[in-house]
Formats: sequence, structure tokens, C-alpha cells
Amino acid sequence: MKASVAMETRLLLPTNENIKLAGDTLKKGGLVGIPTETVYGLAANALDGNAVKAIFDAKGRPMDNPLIVHISDFSQIEKFNLVREIPSKAYILAERFWAGPLTIIMPKGKAIPDEVSAGLDTVAIRFPSHPVTQAVITAAECPLAAPSANLSGSPSPTSAAHVMNDLNGKIPYIIDGGCCEVGLESTVITVAAEPPVLLRPGGITPEQLRDAVGDISISQAVLNKLNDGQKAESPGMKYKHYAPKANLILIKSNDKQYINYVNARKSDAVGALCYDEDTDKLLVKTFPFGSKFDYVQQANRLFDVLRTIDKTNLTTIYCRCPDTRGTAMAVYNRLIRAAGFEVIELA
Ligand code: AMP
Ligand code: MG
Repeated sequence: MKASVAMETRLLLPTNENIKLAGDTLKKGGLVGIPTETVYGLAANALDGNAVKAIFDAKGRPMDNPLIVHISDFSQIEKFNLVREIPSKAYILAERFWAGPLTIIMPKGKAIPDEVSAGLDTVAIRFPSHPVTQAVITAAECPLAAPSANLSGSPSPTSAAHVMNDLNGKIPYIIDGGCCEVGLESTVITVAAEPPVLLRPGGITPEQLRDAVGDISISQAVLNKLNDGQKAESPGMKYKHYAPKANLILIKSNDKQYINYVNARKSDAVGALCYDEDTDKLLVKTFPFGSKFDYVQQANRLFDVLRTIDKTNLTTIYCRCPDTRGTAMAVYNRLIRAAGFEVIELA
């Protein structure tokens, strides 16, 4: 029997012609890697269960982790029967934050295949702001299910090169839209509960959400490790995502304590995932992920830096424990998982 040959993965610039090619591929049930303002997505027709199943196969994603459905116009929610009802708080959130990095979970509509919602009776919807994402959805003439375009367990991709690294040979096309503006996955909130619950922090902060809809609660899994057997309100939160090859440990301390702690453990096998301000005081290999004072920059650089660390042979990474305010809550949420919840408190 002939051995199966991996398909060639082509990198496409976002020209009108290539966007049409992506749209046609998606219409036929194919997969395309696409840029968004959060991270790169691996897209398929959200209304085609078989096409969606192929996303899980390509990523090695557990089938019980539901996907986000992307639209390019608010009216598509009703047009394609994506939800059973649009709760009033969904209108308020959409009005304030769409198009943008906010995913809103609502009661699931008839058109959503089980592969998308992982059998839940809710569905996650997002209207991305990236013009290329919008153009691809419009060209495909259907909503697109699109999780992050990485292999399950590796950091989400923030450039086309990251997608190529993970999915080369598994998908026909990746559209190169440059580096992602936010760099972390969308904020996820459910309005299928009252008050609404923040399930995943991202570029839109809890403060901004409260300003729009009043009281919200924050799922326990956002900042804490769930106990064995405890059910995650969002299935994705139970997985140890973004696990680097090296053992990553968060150090909760002030500046001086962090520098002293790391330098006392100086070795060729040790690295520091640190703030820009720390670099020239450290005696080990440094991987700065942004200024101590710039949470948006930290979010933007984190995943690229984690991938850079994965290319080294370092075995231990001591990481600054981020703040949990504003956008930093999202950075903390990703790093605490990368660290398998291992934190050393010096302060
Ligand atoms: P990703 O597609 O990789 O950005 O991950 C999507 C995230 O949204 C995962 O953490 C999912 O568990 C979560 N999610 C998607 N749909 C739902 C839903 N209906 N209820 C709760 N969480 C959801
Ligand atoms: Mg993901």
C-alpha cells in the first residue's frame, strides 16, 4: 500500500484572490489558518460537523473542549440560527466590545453541531475586529469555528510562522496577517448565567465588563487550580495548557528578592522569564516578556517568548509572577497554567 503523503501547507498573503481561495476552501469543508487580533485561529465551517471534527484531529484537541464560533456581522447570529435567544446583557456587551476580543456564551441554537459545543447546551460566539478575519468569514459565507491554530498543549500562535511550525503538512493554507495585536486569546464571558461569569480573562478586563453590565463573577478556575474531580465551568480551563518543555516556576516576590533568588541558582540549565527591567541584573539567560509596568505589552509578547524558550535546552525557568489586575490577570492566568500552578512565595 502507498504510504500517505502529508499535504503541502502554503502560506498566503491576504490578497483579495487568496481570501477568495480561503473562502472557497472553507465552503468545501477544508481548514485554513487565519490571523485574528487575539491569536491565529484554525478555521472551519461552524455549521459542518465533519469539517469541525477535522480541527480536533489536526490540533490533537480533546473533543470535550468546545470551540468559539466567529461571525463578521451581528445579524449572522439570527440569520444562521446560532443561538436560542440573545440575552439582554449579550446585546450590551456586543454593543460595547464588538468587533473585538470578547467571546460571549449564549444558549445554543439549532444550527450548531455537537462537535462545536462539545455537547453543551450553550455556544461561544465572537465577532473579531481584524479586517482579514472579517473578510475570510464574509468570503466563506458561513460562521467559522476557530480555536487557536496550535497543537494542543503548546502556546497559542501569534504569528503565521508559529502556525506553520505546529501544523505544517496538516492543513492546506495559512493566511499571513503579521503579528497579532493582543497576543492572548479572547476574554470569555457567559451570559447564560446570572450574574454573568468570566470564564477566561483576556484583552477585555473584568473592570471593563463590570462597567458595561454591572455585577459579574469570576470563575474560580481563572486564578486557582481546580481540585481533583471539581467540574470546570469552561472545559478548556481544566487542561494544563501552554506547558513549556522546561520546568517553569513562578516566583512571587519584589524585584530584589527575584534577582537574588535567580542569581543564587545560576547555571547553564537555568533561565529567567522576567520583566524588561530585570534583564541587566540577572546572571542567567534572560527571556524578557515586557515592562513591569506595561500589562498590554506582557500579553502581547508572552506566547512568542514561551516558544523561544521551548527551542532551548534549559530545564528550569524562574518566572516573575505577574500582577492580577487589568490585562495582567490574563497574563497570570496563562502563566500559572504554564507553571502547573507551581508558585514560590518570597514576599
Ligand atoms: P480556544 O478555542 O482555544 O480559544 O478555546 C476556547 C475556550 O472557550 C475554551 O477554554 C473553551 O472551553 C471555552 N468555551 C467554548 N465554548 C464554551 C461553552 N459553551 N461553555 C463554556 N466554555 C466554552
Ligand atoms: Mg487554544
